Amino acid sequence: MRLRNIPGSREVIADSNICIHEEEKAKGRWKEIFGNDHPIEIEIGMGKGQFILAKAQQNPDINYVGIEKFSSVLLRGIQKVEELREEGNAPENLRFIRMEAEHITEVFDKDEVSKIYLNFSDPWPKDRHAKRRLPSKEFLGRYDQILIPEGTLEFKTDNQDLFTFALEETDLAGWNKLAVTRDLHHDAVLNEGNIMTEYEAKFSAMGNPICKLILNRNK
Ligand code: SAM
Repeated sequence: MRLRNIPGSREVIADSNICIHEEEKAKGRWKEIFGNDHPIEIEIGMGKGQFILAKAQQNPDINYVGIEKFSSVLLRGIQKVEELREEGNAPENLRFIRMEAEHITEVFDKDEVSKIYLNFSDPWPKDRHAKRRLPSKEFLGRYDQILIPEGTLEFKTDNQDLFTFALEETDLAGWNKLAVTRDLHHDAVLNEGNIMTEYEAKFSAMGNPICKLILNRNK
């Protein structure tokens, strides 16, 4: 993602009540934060938030948390929600956190998350950085600690190598593949209700096929 440091973005995040601050204190308290016991779904690496915002608007009975490590990117998501708020249309079931996903188990407790979305995760092409890839077995181990037993993970990318890596890591971590396609937009079943992310729109417009994987664990 091309990044510009946008002056003031940290201050906007600090003042935003859609963002969770001191996120470690949220662990085990998510029902209280949302004021209900609806299922919680999270997107890790939400970028500017187009996907998770659409999800929240479409599914008022599910709570959504978008996670993004860069302030300048998260700022765009906050601005979209603020615009909706001015129109009286902001979803109540959406929160954002600016954080590095490596610390996810410090923010969500066992069985607090129903579904995890990874959309167009950074590929980290060098072998020595494999552990940083969000579908790596190291990250799957972290997701295992926060997902409910029947919880699922959905991963989309146009990066064929990263997708092959994710399939291999799924096997190494002992997770089950519930669905696999390397051409989502031509798979009538898996593509039904698909919400395009910013990167998905960009890469599919360039002619790149989109891969999708849905996983769960043996629990
Ligand atoms: N999901 C969006 C989409 O599909 O349009 C954005 C994709 S962009 C390629 C990847 C995003 O994930 C970037 O905004 C990046 O900052 C964020 N990201 C990557 N690794 C992360 C991590 N370890 N923790 C939190 N965010 C991360």
